[in-house]
Amino acid sequence: MNVLVLGAGQLARMMALAVKPLNIEVRAYDVGSKQVLNPLAPQQVFGDLTAGIEYADAITAEFEHVAHDVLAACETSGKLKPSSQAIKTGGDRRLEKELLSQCQAANAQHVIVSDKQSFDRAMATLSLPIIFKSALEGYDGKGQWRLKSLEQAQQTWLELSQFLADNDKQGIIAEQMVPFQREVSLVGMRGKTGEIKVYPLTENHHTDGVLSVSLALENEQQLQDQATQVFTKLTNMIDYVGTLAIEFFQVGDKLLVNEIAPRVHNSGHWTQQGADTCQFANHIRAVCGLPLGNTELIRPTAMINILGQDALPTEILSVPGTAIHWYGKTKRAGRKMGHINVSGNCQAQLNERLLAVSKQLPQAEFSDINTYITAKCS
Ligand code: AMP
Repeated sequence: MNVLVLGAGQLARMMALAVKPLNIEVRAYDVGSKQVLNPLAPQQVFGDLTAGIEYADAITAEFEHVAHDVLAACETSGKLKPSSQAIKTGGDRRLEKELLSQCQAANAQHVIVSDKQSFDRAMATLSLPIIFKSALEGYDGKGQWRLKSLEQAQQTWLELSQFLADNDKQGIIAEQMVPFQREVSLVGMRGKTGEIKVYPLTENHHTDGVLSVSLALENEQQLQDQATQVFTKLTNMIDYVGTLAIEFFQVGDKLLVNEIAPRVHNSGHWTQQGADTCQFANHIRAVCGLPLGNTELIRPTAMINILGQDALPTEILSVPGTAIHWYGKTKRAGRKMGHINVSGNCQAQLNERLLAVSKQLPQAEFSDINTYITAKCS
């Protein structure tokens, strides 16, 4: 089988690697160069989008900000999974909020801001602090304004109105800041026949707004059930096919949806070592109409993102149960360059190994991650 992935980054690369043993070939459409290439050897170019669509038995996406004309061309072929509407929903917070309310999924109270009147309504409805988020192109905390005191309101509105004036397709969501205990996410998949499988919830730690550590959670049945219920309702409602991630805020014993990603997700990278079938293989299985693989946790596993570094001490590999996945990208400050998965036979062993890996990570670049791991695992 042949699969075309819209987007040619690390997620397409990991999908290609994961399904090679199944004899499934993955090609990637690079939205920058508008060329279809080999995600494992990007210098190998195969042709344009039309040729890529022709080649593919199934088409999917590795990110939600794909140009709408590209999505339309793929949808017309009848091969695109998930649907273009599902992909667009993940890329537009207004559509996302609409979907959440349709399936009655708990989320932070919010108001859509498009003019001064709706800004005033947001100020009257929500209490401080308020977070304003751009509807489009917001990810990893980009395109956000935080309003903590009334004195900042005028300045915030000036910035928001300028932002809206600069792009007539944009919108703003004003959202109540939630006093959460932690952020968790659920990654799962729905197959063509409606079969659903989800991985265990993952606890997520962020550094400067970017995911930096994910820990697969065990023994969190109550939260797992809540999250699975949201996942099931939401994916059934839109007849979703493929992998989808839901990010949540945990407030007490309740989960509030923060956002959804209609694709494989950074917080699911641990599944490469912690599950029988990783999210990348399961995503391709889902969009190709194959049976989904086991999503249970087979051993406690955590993931550490490598941000802005293109080399690490090789001694890390001498810590048992450790795998490094590099993405082959050019180094840039803060860029996701790779990740480290660490596994143990039990939680105590995983903690020991995480501490051992953390000792090898350069303190200057990994100080926040090291502090988190030390607090969590000591
Ligand atoms: P997002 O791009 O929506 O994931 O937001 C980036 C980060 O901002 C999240 O990971 C949270 O740490 C924080 N954040 C976003 N929305 C809220 C909210 N309503 N309440 C509290 N923190 C938030």
